[in-house]
Amino acid sequence: MHTDKPLFQLHAEIDTRVQAIRAERADWLCGKGCDSCCRRLADVPRLTAAEWRLLQQGLAAMTASQLDDIAQKMVALAAEHGRPVVCPLLDQTTGACPVYAHRPVACRTYGFYAQRALGLYCGDIEAQVAGGELTDVVWGNHDAVDQQLGALGEARALTDLWFGRGKD
Ligand code: SF4
Ligand code: SF4
Repeated sequence: MHTDKPLFQLHAEIDTRVQAIRAERADWLCGKGCDSCCRRLADVPRLTAAEWRLLQQGLAAMTASQLDDIAQKMVALAAEHGRPVVCPLLDQTTGACPVYAHRPVACRTYGFYAQRALGLYCGDIEAQVAGGELTDVVWGNHDAVDQQLGALGEARALTDLWFGRGKD
């Protein structure tokens, strides 16, 4: 029997950090419709089993037409190796994430967490950092999140998980 408690604890920690940043900065760049990060992923998203179980709940709530659209994008993504990657789940018309409540951890931290070795990921936010506008922000620690995610087990590519649906 799976317990996804560690994942939900991690979500709660991330929510606390995100809310603290938003409370200090009502004008924070991240928001619905700002989808540049979903359009320029470094690679196909990778999910742990717990994240995939949660994401599947979001997929289950989608219409057949939405799922058909995603299926086509998954096929295209599996066949090509161009980078950056546009997330196959993104609603490219509205710029919204259709599985927002069920999205992976990386999507929850992006824009609010920094990784010591690699710096900040989002170019839009990096520009503000470079301009000295965000010197007082207490960023989340991405290295710690990676460690907690690693403890949840192996992560697999979203395309592999998608095509393996129903085979587990
Ligand atoms: S991380 Fe950057 S691109 Fe993504 S929502 Fe935030 S500001 Fe927009
Ligand atoms: S799952 Fe949602 S938030 Fe994450 S990259 Fe895809 S569209 Fe963006």
